[in-house]
Amino acid sequence: MGERKGKLVIVSGPSGSGKTTLVARLKQLEPQRLWVSVSATTRPPRPGEKNGQSYWFVSPQEFQQMIRQGELLEWAEVYPGIFYGTPRRPVEEHLAQGKWVLLEIDVQGAQQVLKRFPQAVTIFVRPRTWEQLQQRLRRRGTEDPQALQKRLQVAQREWNQAHLYKHQVINDKIEDAVQEMLRILNSSEA
Ligand code: 5GP
Repeated sequence: MGERKGKLVIVSGPSGSGKTTLVARLKQLEPQRLWVSVSATTRPPRPGEKNGQSYWFVSPQEFQQMIRQGELLEWAEVYPGIFYGTPRRPVEEHLAQGKWVLLEIDVQGAQQVLKRFPQAVTIFVRPRTWEQLQQRLRRRGTEDPQALQKRLQVAQREWNQAHLYKHQVINDKIEDAVQEMLRILNSSEA
């Protein structure tokens, strides 16, 4: 048997696209093959979020230090003053083990990763229409109006970058979308 080769998979999509739920479902279905990267962020944890599970929650100073020490594969200021980045080492280790390494990151981060891993499989997750996305974001109702406005702006910017991705997955029905992602992962050369 030849050496097992890992596959780097980048999943992006605007807030409200349902990408986090999709990724969680994929992980359930492929616990052996798939490893999902845990990002570092300077945003505070939401209720129920545990350090090291959804994110590594770090201070702005710690984040800057990670940048300086070259510990991040990519990083971006996704919202004003709020930074997110992918720790490099675990990504490299899991790729070396032959895993599908999945990064759920924004468009800016995806562009940085593609410079280093041009063969990465890129997937953009979105609802069918921009109107559906707006509705989903409004319905969440967890944000104050200003925060919602900001999210809509960022979502619009991301929506317009969808063409940069090799694959688009329309998330109407979660099980269909998950199957579509599995089909992409199984058929992609990387
Ligand atoms: P949230 O704070 O709602 O979990 O995530 C907000 C946004 O940050 C999402 O679009 C998500 O894809 C992005 N994001 C999460 N982790 C990273 C990361 O490590 N790098 C980059 N560039 N974006 C990230």
